[in-house]
This record gives sequence, C-alpha cells and structure tokens, in this order.
Amino acid sequence: MNTPTGRSILVTGGAGFIGSHLVEALADDNEVVVLDDLSGGRREWVDDRATLIEGDVREDQTVADAVDGVDLIFHQAANVSVERSIDSPVDSHETNVDATLCLLEHARRENARFVFASSAAIYGDPETMPIEEADSKHPSSPYGLEKHTADEYCRLYHELYGVETVALRYFNVYGPRQRGGQYSGVIDVFLDQAVRDEDITVHGDGNQTRDFVHVNDVVAANCLAATNGTPGEAYNVGTGESIRIVELAQLVQETTETTSDITHTAARDGDIDRSRPSIEKARTDLGYRPSRSLENELSSLR
Ligand code: NAD
Repeated sequence: MNTPTGRSILVTGGAGFIGSHLVEALADDNEVVVLDDLSGGRREWVDDRATLIEGDVREDQTVADAVDGVDLIFHQAANVSVERSIDSPVDSHETNVDATLCLLEHARRENARFVFASSAAIYGDPETMPIEEADSKHPSSPYGLEKHTADEYCRLYHELYGVETVALRYFNVYGPRQRGGQYSGVIDVFLDQAVRDEDITVHGDGNQTRDFVHVNDVVAANCLAATNGTPGEAYNVGTGESIRIVELAQLVQETTETTSDITHTAARDGDIDRSRPSIEKARTDLGYRPSRSLENELSSLR
C-alpha cells in the first residue's frame, strides 16, 4: 500500500471500523494521534503505536489540542446512523457538520491537508448509473444532507482559503470490525443468519443493487489522498461494480454452505433502488485501484 511517511497525522474516529484500519496502515511510518469519544469505536482497536485522545470532535478546545502540530487530518468521526439522524437531526448535524467545520478551521490554521470521509448517501436515489461525482444530489436523510454539506465545505475551504481538502465518498464499506448498520450491515446479517441455519431475509424483491467495497481498499484510497488528488475535489470510493442483494444472499449461502433458505420480507421505506459509482475520477487522479472482491473476502468474514 502506498502510505504516507514521516507525517504528523490526526485521525478522528480512529477507534472505529474504518478509522482503526487506517491508523494501523499509518502507524508504521508516521506519528499518529487518534481523537475518538469511543461512542461507537473501541479502545482495543486503536493501534498501540498511536496516541489516543478520548474526546469529542464537537468540543473546540479538544479539537484544537488534537490538531496542534499535525500536517495531515483524516476526518472519519461521525454520527454514522441514518436512523439516529432522522430521530435527532440537530444532534447529528452538530457532529457531522458543525464539528467538520470546526476541524476545517483548525486545518486552515495549521496548514494541514484534510481528507474527509464523505458518503454515497449524498446522492440519494440516483437518476443515472453509474453515479458520477458531478451528478445531482438529493439526499434522503439528514445524514446524507449533513455529509453533502460537509463535503461542500471541504470544496469551499479550498476555494476560499486554499486548504488542501479531498473528500472521499465511500460506498458500502465492509470488512473485519464492521458492525451492523445501514451501509454494509446486510452482509453481517446474512452471514449471521446463514451460520445459524436460519432463513436469510431479503427486504423486498432483492433487486436493489449496492457496491460493496473492502475496508482495505478504502484505507488505500485515504492513503493515496494524503498526497495525490486535486485539492478541493471529491472522489467516489467503491469498486465500480454492484451486486443485487438477492445475489449477495445466494453468495452467502454458497460461501457458508448453509441449509438456510432465502425468504423475502416487506421492502423498507426509503431504501435506495440502485447504487453503482463510476470510480474513473479516483483511478485517474488518485491512482486508486480497488483490489479486493466480495467473492474472495466473504469467507474470511466468518
Ligand atoms: P464507526 O462508527 O465505526 O466509526 C466512527 C467513529 O467516530 C467511532 O469510533 C466513534 O466512536 C467516533 N465518533 C462518533 N462521534 C464522535 C464524536 N462526537 N467525537 C469523537 N468521535 C466520535 O463508523 P465507520 O463505518 O468506520 O465510519 C467512518 C466514517 O466513514 C464516517 O464518517 C462515516 O460516515 C463514513 N462512511 C462510512 C461508510 C461505511 O460503509 N461504513 C460509508 C460511507 C461513509
């Protein structure tokens, strides 16, 4: 992996699923500080070589201390739950927008590069496929709108103040340490059902499509964005391939050799129908080449 070296780095959310893998990749050759309130992450996931500051990204002084002297920031901390953003939009906005803005301000003062964990949720239900970065954005949840706003702040901070920002719009990330959730939780749920020989339950007809990208590929995209890519730009981070949910269920059946049947339950309100990004921009500008396939990786998840 093409990791940065000799840098002084802050990873917010570095105790979480994606952040902890990123910290592991960076810790060999860089000085790494993690800022995480452990609301979703775990202390034991933070690499021993990194310094953990247990604190909240919404607290300005905590952020100021964490950012002091760093030249590179990976901002992964967020309220990652769409449901929570619908239940408590004001709280979610504080974490996902206000805290990002505050971090951008500190990045500006420190002259630090800023790599932001944006999301495919900003596109909402896409009108055309594959989804290009410039396509229309109609987020269907406060979470999606918050990520869109923060992603736009990254662009603006480059345009107005010259901060080197790069936004990475992750699609459905999966891999070790992933817990259930709206993104890739379906993989966990299906695997759980399969190993228990319970029915694998697919919402609706299962023709919804998703691009599942392995966490190591997402880490690689972040590492590349530390040096490559055009500041002020945003990049889709997926595999560029999508799979139907019912095909995923079949793949889980085959991989686990379960006796489970596939059954269908009611479609979920607001479920996006199709999702598949173009990753050409990330290929060209970042040099991003996803290398993990769902078929090969599924068996190692259980
Ligand atoms: P995660 O919940 O495992 O990680 C988020 C981390 O942020 C956790 O460790 C949590 O403790 C920390 N955190 C939350 N609120 C905080 C606060 N106020 N102060 C300090 N720390 C706080 O989730 P993840 O899947 O690793 O997501 C990482 C980033 O990637 C998030 O920004 C998420 O929105 C984005 N993203 C993830 C996916 C995916 O498929 N997992 C897809 C698109 C975007």
